[in-house]
Amino acid sequence: MNKDVITAIEQIVSRDEIYKNELMSRHTTFRTGGPASLFIRPNCLDELRSVIKLLKRAEVDYFILGNGSNLLVSDKGYDGVVISLGKFADIRIEDETRIIAQAGAMNSAIAMTARDNELTGFEFAAGIPGTIGGAMIMNAGAYGGEMKDITRQVTVLTPDGDTIKLDNNVMKFGYRTSALKGKNFVILSAALELQKGNKEEIAAAMQELALKRKEKQPLEYPSAGSTFKRPEGYFAGKLIEDAGLKGFGVGDAAVSEKHCGFVINKGKATSYDIYETIRRVQDIVYEKSGVKLEPEVIMLGEF
Ligand SMILES: Cc1cc2nc3c(=O)[nH]c(=O)nc-3n(C[C@H](O)[C@H](O)[C@H](O)COP(=O)(O)OP(=O)(O)OC[C@H]3O[C@@H](n4cnc5c(N)ncnc54)[C@H](O)[C@@H]3O)c2cc1C
Repeated sequence: MNKDVITAIEQIVSRDEIYKNELMSRHTTFRTGGPASLFIRPNCLDELRSVIKLLKRAEVDYFILGNGSNLLVSDKGYDGVVISLGKFADIRIEDETRIIAQAGAMNSAIAMTARDNELTGFEFAAGIPGTIGGAMIMNAGAYGGEMKDITRQVTVLTPDGDTIKLDNNVMKFGYRTSALKGKNFVILSAALELQKGNKEEIAAAMQELALKRKEKQPLEYPSAGSTFKRPEGYFAGKLIEDAGLKGFGVGDAAVSEKHCGFVINKGKATSYDIYETIRRVQDIVYEKSGVKLEPEVIMLGEF
């Protein structure tokens, strides 16, 4: 990466929040991925805005990172700047039933805040292991709920450095997608509209869903959750199992035996292993059932 750009970033973000050639395996739940040329963690909105404007001007690629829980980064790494919003994690309550969460806040932390303040509606998301920023981009959902149902408004930083507010309908939430997916907009915060509820009931619902996850999902292995989107009229896991692919894999990546919808890292998998497993599963399922599986996982870098 151009040295002048690095020098300019060093004048904006404090040096201890700038990492060169940072291995992305440290920042993805797959625990794989090569180095990002630069990895930065801005401390405040002014820093973030200045960096975004600089990178746009210099035509340098950047990627906004949440918790890396839906992300496969190439073993060759990423020739650009990864921007972590780890410092943007405040959660507060407004008008009794509204939670305002900064983009880097974890869903689990928001769920605890909702429970402690007797607010219901976020239970479905308590076990989704990402940030609310990532959840907005993906319209994350589980057990019959999705972000679309509870999002009132999203505050966003545009590539030109302007802060704008987008209402739910403008976000165009769809199945694991939104209007901002793949765009260079940064989600800064989300306003979530919940309802008054009963603390014990909220806690019990969260616990029940956590148990279901533990029972059904291979949480003991690194993964990115469901690897494929649900094809209309089918379940990806069932198609994969019916194609005889339970346990199938390349290198140390495998289709989970517990839940065929998950590709897992058995220990020493590379991103290539995972990518090849995904690709071959797609081919074989298509051959056997005629259904094209589309990855839900986001790929970053060259494969
Ligand atoms: C064990 C396991 C279980 C899972 N279960 C579910 C589930 O039940 N339901 C479900 O929907 N998903 C599930 N997932 C997938 C994943 O947790 C979700 O997609 C989650 O919403 C991703 O959030 P993240 O913060 O990790 O985003 P990342 O993976 O870091 O990023 C995902 C995308 O969002 C973008 N992004 C992140 N933050 C911002 C921001 N602030 N501004 C702009 N862009 C941003 C990234 O650039 C990227 O394009 C699971 C994953 C795992 C590992």
